[in-house]
Amino acid sequence: MPLVTRTGYNIGTLCIIDTKPRSLSENQKFVLRTLAKQVITNFELRKKDKELHVLNENTQRLTKAKEEFFSNMSHELRTPLNAISGFSENLYKTKLDPEQKEQLGIIRSSVDILISLVNDILDYSKIDSGSLVIEKHTFNLRSMIKATFELLKIKAQEKNLSFILNVGTELPTYVKGDKIRLNQILINLIGNAIKFTKKGFVTLSIDSVADSAEKLDLRVSVKDTGIGIPADKLEEIFHRFQQVEGTTRVFGGSGFGLSISKSLVEMQNGKLDVTSEFGKGSEFSFSIKYQKSSKEEILLFEDGERASEPISKLNLKNIRVLLAEDNVINVKVIKKLFEGTGILLEAVEDGKVCIEKLKQKSFDVILMDLYMPEMDGYEATRYIRNTLNLKVPIIAFSANICETDRKKSLEVGMNEYITKPFKIEELLRTIYRFSHSINWKTLWEYTGNDGDFEKEMIEMFLIEMPKYLKDLEIVIEKEEFCAIKGAAHKIKSPLGIFGLEELKSNFVKIEELSAKLQIIPIVKIFADSQICLERILSDLEVVRKQMN
Ligand code: ADP
Repeated sequence: MPLVTRTGYNIGTLCIIDTKPRSLSENQKFVLRTLAKQVITNFELRKKDKELHVLNENTQRLTKAKEEFFSNMSHELRTPLNAISGFSENLYKTKLDPEQKEQLGIIRSSVDILISLVNDILDYSKIDSGSLVIEKHTFNLRSMIKATFELLKIKAQEKNLSFILNVGTELPTYVKGDKIRLNQILINLIGNAIKFTKKGFVTLSIDSVADSAEKLDLRVSVKDTGIGIPADKLEEIFHRFQQVEGTTRVFGGSGFGLSISKSLVEMQNGKLDVTSEFGKGSEFSFSIKYQKSSKEEILLFEDGERASEPISKLNLKNIRVLLAEDNVINVKVIKKLFEGTGILLEAVEDGKVCIEKLKQKSFDVILMDLYMPEMDGYEATRYIRNTLNLKVPIIAFSANICETDRKKSLEVGMNEYITKPFKIEELLRTIYRFSHSINWKTLWEYTGNDGDFEKEMIEMFLIEMPKYLKDLEIVIEKEEFCAIKGAAHKIKSPLGIFGLEELKSNFVKIEELSAKLQIIPIVKIFADSQICLERILSDLEVVRKQMN
């Protein structure tokens, strides 16, 4: 029986071999014909399977190449944008005549538009490749809404529109979810409402409905009295690049916003809806489920909030920052931005030099570029964590925001991730947060979350620690090694209670060095630790005052 493919090619014959010649009955012929068909189907199936496999591999390779392309592209775009944004921010603080100020203002807002466009494109590519991750952190929902409202109110006022905020009484202050993404959706919807409304008002209404003991359903609506959307376009506007005809020319925009917002809402198990009457106005509404925050999560969050006081109030004095960055322009921008903050900045050009530097002296925070020649940020971090055994906070500092990079940087032991172009405030706050390395959780565990006991411990630390330091200083001056060991030992345990592990390890080192009678490194480590402790003491003093 010939084996014929579906396209008509004869690729072989199916034979029955026997010891004696025989002729086949009709039934047997039928079976043979069916068998031949089965064989050919199997062949074709196997071939298709192989083709599919290759196709699949190609698709995967393509997706990876695409993500790499976007991440490289973002790097290339963000580095110059970072320089323009940083320097113009800086220039704005200098003395300028009105014309220069106006032109610089245009540069700044143009850069902001460019940055948000690059962000949109990147978000889209991340949503497309499935690498966008929805974060889950406790945040202050009410204050976030208020801040967004105030920010967009300025835009509405510029167009003489009323902007009304309705916040439901049931809305909790704290929830657990992705604050940045919620903010992004709100800005997009309200931004559109303001953009497409010539007169009248825009209303933002937010309320929540209890969903279960642990969850709540946030309901948001953005309503406007703008140009409206024709009924036949209501579906389309959620598609990528889709704009109602003619809107770009009149109102500007890229057509990215709604499709990103829709995906973001859906990734948070919600739905984005629209109702609109052409010429009268539109209403966009969505709901997202959030987890309620526990008491401990709220306390931890509030603690972090202390670090978000107005930037001018943050005590950045004497924080020792090591910047590992090969791009000289970036180094220059950061040096300039740190001027007057009190931060002690040192810069090195790659991971290798960074490690050499850390062998000589300690730092409170390291800002680590991920891609550097010689040794990159990942390798350097691995070495710092595993070989030097240092716990110093490392903040990845890169123009690359692809999810794999973010994950990888945390995996190798970095503590946080900042993308360029950054806002100076964000950078300073992050540095402050990590340099201010008291781990309240350790203290809570120690005090059993007892507020009075906690206060007592802080007061004791504030009184005793300066004394202990003075004692150690005196014996170091006298080079009394035995006494140095004892004095250093005494300091260790209070540092442990306050979760100051990095500092504690300095005093362990001093103990070890005193056994080896090595005064020079002792003096150095002590001087470093003293600077750091003085800063912590002055911060703790502020906390103590707040507790009263
Ligand atoms: P962009 O605003 O950048 O054009 P979006 O994806 O945010 O992109 O919006 C897509 C299109 O949907 C807009 O171009 C506009 O035609 C329409 N649209 C969105 N929001 C409104 C609104 N509030 N009123 C009228 N039309 C809107």
